[in-house]
Amino acid sequence: MTVFAESGDLVGTGYNYEPSRQRKHSMSPPKNVKIDPEEQAALREWKALIVGHYKDDIARLQGMEDSVHGFHIEHHLIDAQPTLRHMFHENPVRALEFGHRIMREQFDANKIPTRPVIRVVGLSENYLNRVDELRMRDRNDLVCLDVKINDVSQPYGWLKQAKYECRDCGTTTAVDQRRARERESPRVCRVCLDKVFADMDTKDMPMGLFHPRPNFRMLTEECTYEDVQDISMSQITYNSEHRLINCSTRNQILGTVADDLVDAIKTSEYLRINGIVRVQPVPDRNFAKDTRRLLSIDILSIEELPIQD
Ligand SMILES: [Zn+2]
Repeated sequence: MTVFAESGDLVGTGYNYEPSRQRKHSMSPPKNVKIDPEEQAALREWKALIVGHYKDDIARLQGMEDSVHGFHIEHHLIDAQPTLRHMFHENPVRALEFGHRIMREQFDANKIPTRPVIRVVGLSENYLNRVDELRMRDRNDLVCLDVKINDVSQPYGWLKQAKYECRDCGTTTAVDQRRARERESPRVCRVCLDKVFADMDTKDMPMGLFHPRPNFRMLTEECTYEDVQDISMSQITYNSEHRLINCSTRNQILGTVADDLVDAIKTSEYLRINGIVRVQPVPDRNFAKDTRRLLSIDILSIEELPIQD
């Protein structure tokens, strides 16, 4: 690692790396990873839910040859679990990540090599929104929308996680990427940084004088890619007999599907889509400079709507 002395440059202003998690750790020597009680509770509840309600369904999948399988889980079962109920509402991505760990465990126990993806269905009506009601402040919220599918893009891949190697010490670091954003590389190598701090303790040098520079190369072969499809959809209204009243030409929104949902959605279908509201740059614009943003939906699951035209 290259260490530059920059007089008057204080730690915290000199380092150009933001995530508070990294900063917290960087100020002190590495500690043992603490067990997060919320995480433990979530894993325990997922296990009770999956084993309690879906054990036989999983066992029936033995012999399946698909590389990925969407596994439907009823939302009311999540709602009955004290920790998961809260976590799925506040941070569905985190809740699902823990669910996937338990699901993977159960698939392994049944010797099913397929990758399971949890698709939560049957969300309560209070998640039901309309396209025209969505605003920027709704970003990261969980919503359901009743829509007609206008268009489905060709599947395309994106770099989901990039792996980097520190040229100084050889440590590899994985950096999760965001779709349709500039690729992000690590700002600092933890191992090299810890070494600097250790040296400071022994050599009695003021830490404010040092400014470690990242020195990474991307390991292209070890990066993770994901296939996705963009879905364009329109808000629909229908009556209690599921007769279509209106399909809006104005209130349209884009959504994205991945894994087993790629190639699962057809144009002109009526669907309830359950997903997370995201904010995206306007397509075909220079995202770094253009400030305009659009709302879109990261689709977590889809349900057929029995609508009559
Ligand atoms: Zn390093």
